[in-house]
Amino acid sequence: LLAGGHPSLSSGVLMETASALEPGLYIVAGPIGNLGDLTPRAAEILRLADVIAVEDTRVSARLLRAAGSDRPMLPYHDHSADHVRARLVDRMAGESVALLSDAGTPLISDPGYKLVRDARAAGRRVTTLPGPSAAIAALTLSGLPTDRFLFMGFLASKAKARGDALDEVAALRATLVFYESGPRLSESLSAMAAHLGDREAAVSREISKAFEETVTGSLSILSARYADAPPKGEIVVVVGPPGDAPPASAEDADAALREALTRLPVSKAAGEVAKKLGLDRRALYDRAMELKG
Ligand code: SAM
Repeated sequence: LLAGGHPSLSSGVLMETASALEPGLYIVAGPIGNLGDLTPRAAEILRLADVIAVEDTRVSARLLRAAGSDRPMLPYHDHSADHVRARLVDRMAGESVALLSDAGTPLISDPGYKLVRDARAAGRRVTTLPGPSAAIAALTLSGLPTDRFLFMGFLASKAKARGDALDEVAALRATLVFYESGPRLSESLSAMAAHLGDREAAVSREISKAFEETVTGSLSILSARYADAPPKGEIVVVVGPPGDAPPASAEDADAALREALTRLPVSKAAGEVAKKLGLDRRALYDRAMELKG
């Protein structure tokens, strides 16, 4: 394979010795549940790298076995001590370091950002072996607009922090992608309905595995569906953008704010109108203060 030159690796990645990779950082995407989704190019890097930085050595050992790799692993997290990262960046000067996550693409709700940042700052070669990511896979399954989307990762579990994060993006004309877990799913969907409005959504679970399933519907209907039967497995929630109504005018916003201020304190009134009209909550808060004053 190496002597003949792999078509995708021959251009600049392999050194002439044909047994080592060029020094630097290799970001390697792994499968999100189906071993068949490990790309041949990723498997080859895992077999050739001098060292593989992983989240959990037990999880990655299985993938390395499947890839036919016996390369040494080294645990790495972005919260690892600074000297662990510095040592890895030092090693990249003369060795190939692969970065692998427990699942999917490193850095996507997974460690790696600080390692890439520091590797770049030190002038190391950084390359990626692209592959599966649950966020993109779920987006493609959802049937919701894909022209503009925002990856939200995991929401906070505390209600206040979760609500604040949702309020912050409620006015964006973009599809939203969240990572979730079964036990939290119903409550999260109902918080999304409360803070974003009752939009169209899709819940995808166990993507690429035996029990893959995608269920679509409004946030409130999905929340009710999962209330008594939290689903098992790994989950992504995709929420469509706010409705296609033309943006509310300043007059509409003032009228709605005046009405809401007869019933609610300023911040609650701003929040309610922001959700109803799909406008920016902070701007409405400032305007509500003016109207009150
Ligand atoms: N780096 C990964 C990626 O690229 O998708 C994500 C890692 S994050 C720690 C793990 C979360 O991703 C899970 O809790 C779940 O929300 C989502 N996820 C991972 N694999 C999945 C799958 N096969 N089906 C649905 N969601 C999945």
